[in-house]
Order: sequence, then structure tokens, then C-alpha cells
Amino acid sequence: MEASNQTVEPDNELYHALQRAWNQHKDNGDGVVADYIPELSRADPDHFGVAIATANGKLYAVGDVEVPFTIQSVSKAFAFCLALEIAGPQRVSGRVGVEPSGDPFNAIVFDPDTNRPFNPMVNAGAIAISGLLCEYLGNDAFDFLLNRFSIAAGRRLTVDEKVYASEFETGHRNRAIAHLLLANGALAGSPDKALDLYFKQCSISVTAVDLARMGATFANMGQNPLEKSIAFELTSVRRTLSVMFTCGMYDYAGHWAYDVGIPAKSGVGGGIVGVINRQLGIGTYSPRLDRKGNSVRGIATFEMLAEEFGLHAFDCTNVGSTFISSLIR
Ligand code: GLN
Repeated sequence: MEASNQTVEPDNELYHALQRAWNQHKDNGDGVVADYIPELSRADPDHFGVAIATANGKLYAVGDVEVPFTIQSVSKAFAFCLALEIAGPQRVSGRVGVEPSGDPFNAIVFDPDTNRPFNPMVNAGAIAISGLLCEYLGNDAFDFLLNRFSIAAGRRLTVDEKVYASEFETGHRNRAIAHLLLANGALAGSPDKALDLYFKQCSISVTAVDLARMGATFANMGQNPLEKSIAFELTSVRRTLSVMFTCGMYDYAGHWAYDVGIPAKSGVGGGIVGVINRQLGIGTYSPRLDRKGNSVRGIATFEMLAEEFGLHAFDCTNVGSTFISSLIR
């Protein structure tokens, strides 16, 4: 797959809004770069990029939007969507719930009623999903996932091997989680294989533009708006966006739904993807994280854009595709 020849559109209200958000937050030095995966600590804390891709193929981008970073937990949303398609919603819900946990992303905690992880957006749930993908796809699981992620981004994505090695070497907590999943029946196959897929998917290298385009593919019902290829199945996208809305920002998800109101997913690499259904994908990159593991400047940018354009799902000015399409014609 070739890199998309999508052009950046400079002179537009959305572009100017991105510029305002970038200017307003660029000097915010709050938060710290993640270092519990040692290789992540090498990120330049000052990098800051914001991008919007529309469901009709346009791109608006400001700042460090071509700087690569690892997708980390943002991958959980896309992997969940693929598991729904491959294993079906019933089998998926036999392994992982859809309730917000209110606990940190790496918590070792299970739903007391089912012994299953609370949702697929925290580590325990995501590792259960990786296990399910391994069961159905065997050794092809990673290539399958990478191919679909690449279709969504509109270019061939690759793994950051250094981050993968670093995560593999230090992921003892995730190993503990995988073995508990096996003991609880939320994992049926090899914990090592599930973990390997999980570590690899988290180590996929992306940019803010990639996240915006992947979000736009979700917004466009699973079809990449430019290449027209299908990355995700329609009904799985709806289910995934629902879980992103309620669980995508770890133990900040309630505040996020209340203040920002956009289905989103963040990762400790510093990325956030947000989806305005049928309209936009938004991707931000800034590696300094708050105490809950969310990008500080990423959150601030989303808050500003949601406020300015009425992007909150329940904002009375957000009337679906017609609203934004009037801005981007
Ligand atoms: N790979 C990371 C981990 O398992 C992902 C965590 C995250 O982005 N919140 O710890």
C-alpha cells in the first residue's frame, strides 16, 4: 500500500481552530513522559501535533503531525473491533465485559460477577481480546491486525522493534494479568501468544495524522475515506465506538464523556484518537501524560475543539454529518 496522496488543506475554519488550539497549548509543560516501558522515555516531551481527517477525505494538520510514536492503548479500540468481527459479539462478551472499571488501565481487577475483565479498553480486557484473536487467527493474527490497521490509516504501518523489545522485557504486570485471565477462563489459549500479540500491537508506530485517518475510517463506517477499502465491519464499529465513549480514557472516562463527549481512546505513547460519527477523526500527539496516563495537551486540545465546534455527542449544535460538512465544503 502506498502512502496516501491526501493533501493537507490549509485555509479552512477547522485548520484555523487546530492552529489556535496548538498555539494555546504548546507551552503547557504539565505532565511527564511514560518511562515504565523504558524505551518510551526517549520521546521528545515537547513534540505536539494535532490533526483532523474528515469522513470525506480531507486532512487538516498542525505541529508535529509526522513524528512517529507507538500506538499503545489506542490499539485496543481497533483490536476490539476486529475481534467482534472475527469471533462475533457473543464470544467476545464471554471473555470481556463492556462496563467502565473506574480503575487504572493496568489494574489487576475483574468483574466479581463474571471473573472477566471489565472492558476491552484496559490492559486485562485487551489481553483477553488478543487471546481471542490468536485463537481464531493463529500465527496470522498479528499480520491480519497490522493489515487492517494499515488500511484504516491509508498507509503501511510498521512495528517499532525497540519499543516492542522494551515492552517484552519489562511487561511483568501484563504477564501476571494474562495468567490470571487463563485461570479465570477469560483466555483459552497460550498466555505467551496472547501477550506477544498484545505487546506487538501496542508497538505499532503511528503519527497524529495516522490516528486522525484511522479515526476517520471509524467515522466513515469502517471504510477508509480515501482508498475506499473496508478496514472494519459496520456493526462492530458501532459497538466499538460505544465502548470508547464509556471506557476509552481509563479512569478519566466519566469526566471525558461529561466534558468532551467524544468517543476516544488514549495511549501511554502520548496519542489520542477521537471519532465524530460520520464526520471526523481527530488525532493528537503529545507525550507528557497526566497521572491517569492521558496526554495533557491532547486532552486540552480535544476540550477546546469540542467546545468550539459543538462536537460533544449531546451538544444541541451537533446535528450529525450536515454540521461539519457545511464547514468543509
Ligand atoms: N502497552 C502498554 C501497557 O501494557 C499500554 C498501556 C497504555 O497505553 N495505557 O502497559
